[in-house]
Amino acid sequence: MGLIGKLAIVTGAGSGIGRATCRLLARDGAKVIAADRNMKSAEQTVNEIACDNVIPLKLDVSSLASVSKSVTFSIEHFMQPPSIVINSAGITRDGYLLKLTEKDYDEVYEVNLKGTFLMTQQFARAMIEHQIRNGTIINLSSIVARMNNPGQANYAATKAGVISLSEIAAKEFGKFGIRVNAILPGFINTPMVDSVPEKIKTDILQRCPMGRLGRPEEIANVIAFLASEKSSYVNGAAIPVTGGL
Ligand code: NAP
Repeated sequence: MGLIGKLAIVTGAGSGIGRATCRLLARDGAKVIAADRNMKSAEQTVNEIACDNVIPLKLDVSSLASVSKSVTFSIEHFMQPPSIVINSAGITRDGYLLKLTEKDYDEVYEVNLKGTFLMTQQFARAMIEHQIRNGTIINLSSIVARMNNPGQANYAATKAGVISLSEIAAKEFGKFGIRVNAILPGFINTPMVDSVPEKIKTDILQRCPMGRLGRPEEIANVIAFLASEKSSYVNGAAIPVTGGL
């Protein structure tokens, strides 16, 4: 119950890690805005958690207008911006470099890196304006940013960008009492991984010392730690959660 009285916003809340995160933050007592570009899946998250503390919101992280609308919504609805921001919205459009289309490159960039930038900038600004002195922003990168798998140039580049963005934000916002950290999940059993070919999944499982995919809750637990005061001196970190992959 370490998050009682806190307000959080979680993007990509309609699926996988975002949904598991909403559940854990609500369990720990936070009020949670479950935001996704797909309102139906955000509502499904809220219905599954069945707790008055969680409300759905339609939000497209790649649009400045949509992100700034969500800042306004939180202030109008809760009289303050969230002090906890979790950027879990993300997409893949895999393809080998010589075949990668401009569209697939742009879409991944718009959501994964530009979306994380817009959320970080707009919500940090609101926290500073409302003199919130214990803000925490948690960005979902990926271990792929370090492994650099062939066929994932667009995805890996954006996730490496998320680490740099988070480290720089940590340096710039520390003086305002806002911490910024990145998590690098390994292969986690969510709809995102459903699209990975079986042969590649088998190879990953063989290389993973724990011999299994991670569960969304196993990432959400680390997010809940970074959201709480238990991590009060963790800032600018990029934490792998991979089962040792
Ligand atoms: P997921 O199950 O596919 O969930 C991602 C959610 O984000 C979906 O509901 C998706 O909606 C939503 N979304 C996509 N674009 C959006 C936008 N522009 N605005 C708002 N919401 C948007 O993925 P996940 O596995 O939970 O992944 C969560 C994060 O962890 C991602 O950033 C991912 O890159 C990262 N990650 C995942 C893994 C893994 O193995 N699962 C590993 C490393 C890193 P749609 O369904 O409409 O696209």
